[in-house]
Amino acid sequence: MKTFVKHDPWCIIEEGFHPEFNRITESLMSLGNGRMGQRANFEEHYSGDTLSGNYVAGVYYPDKTRVGWWKNGYPEYFAKVLNAANWIGIDVAVDGETFDLAKCEIISFKRVLNMKEGWLERCAEVKMDSGKRLEIHSKRFLSIVYSEIGVIRYAIKPLNFDGKITFTPYVDADVMNEDANYDEKFWDEVKREVSAGEGYVIARTKKTGFEVCTGMKFAVKQNDVVVDLNIIPAEREKYVFNSFTVNCIKGQNTVVYKYGCNLSSENHEKRKLLANAKIVLDKAFKKGFDALLNEQINAWSKKWEESDITIEGDIAAQQGIRFNIFQLNQTYTGEDERLNIGPKGFTGEKYGGSTYWDTEAYCIPFYLSTADSKIARNLLIYRYKHLQKAIENAEKLGFSGGAALYPMVTMNGEECHNEWEITFEEIHRNGAIAFAIYNYIRYTGDKAYLSEYGLEVLIAISRFWSQRVSFSEEKKKFVMLGVTGPNEYENNINNNWYTNTLACWTMNYTCEATEYVKNTFPRKYAQLVSRIKFDEPKETNRWKFIAEHMHFPEDKNQGIFLQQDGYMDKEQILVKDLDPAQRPINQKWSWDRILRSCFIKQADVLQGVYLFEERYDISVIRRNFDFYESRTVHESSLSPCVHSILAAKLGYKEKAYEMYLRTSRLDLDDYNNDTCDGCHITSMGGTWMSVIQGFGGMRIKNEKLSFNPMIPVQWKSYAFKIMFRKNLLKITVNQKDVQIENQSEKDIEIIVFDNIYLVNGNGNLVIAGIS
Ligand code: BGC
Repeated sequence: MKTFVKHDPWCIIEEGFHPEFNRITESLMSLGNGRMGQRANFEEHYSGDTLSGNYVAGVYYPDKTRVGWWKNGYPEYFAKVLNAANWIGIDVAVDGETFDLAKCEIISFKRVLNMKEGWLERCAEVKMDSGKRLEIHSKRFLSIVYSEIGVIRYAIKPLNFDGKITFTPYVDADVMNEDANYDEKFWDEVKREVSAGEGYVIARTKKTGFEVCTGMKFAVKQNDVVVDLNIIPAEREKYVFNSFTVNCIKGQNTVVYKYGCNLSSENHEKRKLLANAKIVLDKAFKKGFDALLNEQINAWSKKWEESDITIEGDIAAQQGIRFNIFQLNQTYTGEDERLNIGPKGFTGEKYGGSTYWDTEAYCIPFYLSTADSKIARNLLIYRYKHLQKAIENAEKLGFSGGAALYPMVTMNGEECHNEWEITFEEIHRNGAIAFAIYNYIRYTGDKAYLSEYGLEVLIAISRFWSQRVSFSEEKKKFVMLGVTGPNEYENNINNNWYTNTLACWTMNYTCEATEYVKNTFPRKYAQLVSRIKFDEPKETNRWKFIAEHMHFPEDKNQGIFLQQDGYMDKEQILVKDLDPAQRPINQKWSWDRILRSCFIKQADVLQGVYLFEERYDISVIRRNFDFYESRTVHESSLSPCVHSILAAKLGYKEKAYEMYLRTSRLDLDDYNNDTCDGCHITSMGGTWMSVIQGFGGMRIKNEKLSFNPMIPVQWKSYAFKIMFRKNLLKITVNQKDVQIENQSEKDIEIIVFDNIYLVNGNGNLVIAGIS
């Protein structure tokens, strides 16, 4: 754990430079706008440790995989989100001496990410080798109004000298991914163009052929007056730059306003990329930094109006939740149904910017409640569009008859991860996709979705489950062999309770959904039946039969569901007895040791208990929670949120709070020692869930919103907003009561502590009895 980030309700602050944590800060202070993202790299040359990152949504490279033992069925590649051309760069030399923070004495330093207004700022006072002292002040943002634009205001002030400062703003497409398997560069140049004051590089990705035009345009001011510059435009392959030297006077700021753009062939015709980039940049340039910043501030204020959560009395908790909401909003706006949410969003290379089950299991609830329902629907349709590829994926593994196995990791519907224990075995992802359809319908009431898209996906997934199980003569039950559950610290296990539970649930739900569509949309149903050759009675009967005769491992003595067959054969040690110096175990122990241990990476049985809690009485939930929480090391970001929600349900206030801090500050405090690779964006949806579903106790019961709020002792109050079926509600919970404000015209019936209340349009309800 690290604690160098200052606590503040709206800002992420690094006070004093921490070069040893620079990659962490670069991740934390990443900016994004749904279309592109930029790590908090410095504008000027920096020879210290850094991971450069400018990412353009939807642009990827299928990197040839390096694996020692190739297995039949592996995909050929691992998709990588690409580090695209650097547009932020401004090299600086002072009287010929290169300005490089790693080589300066740093007198003062502060980096601030302002989440309320959506910008990043850096102020530093430094002494160069020559003894010259400088003050630098840079501020930049990626516009959420004009999503192809980024803007920088970069100011330098000599503090103890008059001199000549040479600035070199540039665009550099000669960049690499650190995680390139063969140290290969992924971009080829298509074209470049440079003139005084602007420059562009169009680069094309190898193999995938995406083209991105990255451009810059700039102006320089002193005393708020534009400086006439003698610019030397220059270029080399994949690189354009302008150099100019300015006479600087002690105490006077020289300010470079640099406007950057990234336009991708996903959104523009390739032949028009350059012309369109010029138009986009020109518009931004004419508007100017201040006007663009004002628009940015207003746009963020609107976003916060919709999705903020306030926590009174606990700044660390407040900062944590806002950081999570901010990053989620920076990553995915829902406007483009081709896009999805990578586990690291736009904050690093790891996880390749690809789509995982994380989206369905952790992110959809956030978008369902804080945005128009079409956004969650778009996320479902994204998977619908990949259905044929999922069927092909299953065929490659030997399944047939329209069975679909969605990839564990994907960019375009194809599997692009190749580790057998994950690619072939971590099949529970199929269940998360099915559950998300149910979750969406349960929340929005949009049952028609089933007839348009949902049922087809459900049938294909159920077909997969029914072929993936086998019948054990010994047990006289169906079993699911050779799987990996959510807990990746176990591989090739038999009968993962979570996977079996989800498989049976999917098959039953598919039968229900079939009945519904058949009766409500008979024509559409008939078309579907003939298109996918659905033998309804035979297939649904088999699904029901399997679901009724599935084997679920349990430990009768302890009254718990067993994560998998044989789990109790392991030496049972508790996390509390682990030497803290041995954690995280995935960085300290051999993989072999981890696999043999009883330690659990992330919620597994508890993930299932969370999804289907209405099936179990509270004592069952308690026994399972007590057993598994004490063995879980939470080394996946996706884990503490689920534990927090269940702890809240069980009234374990301190545990719920501890897990809440862990999920919400996972990156801010670098709990798992891996924020240097990027932030854990998808788990941030889980953080949101831990407040709304955990402390707020929100559920959907019989088509109604239901709340069962509790509040940690550390908090005075907390408040959040929920959109539910065209109603906007504000829920405020303090140590005494819960207040529900209906901020829409429509009346709504809601459930609080198991009683039904009518809250009139624009009405208010206050209920006492908070514990
Ligand atoms: C987790 C997976 C998750 C992936 C991406 C892994 O560490 O175990 O459940 O899908 O990270 O977030």
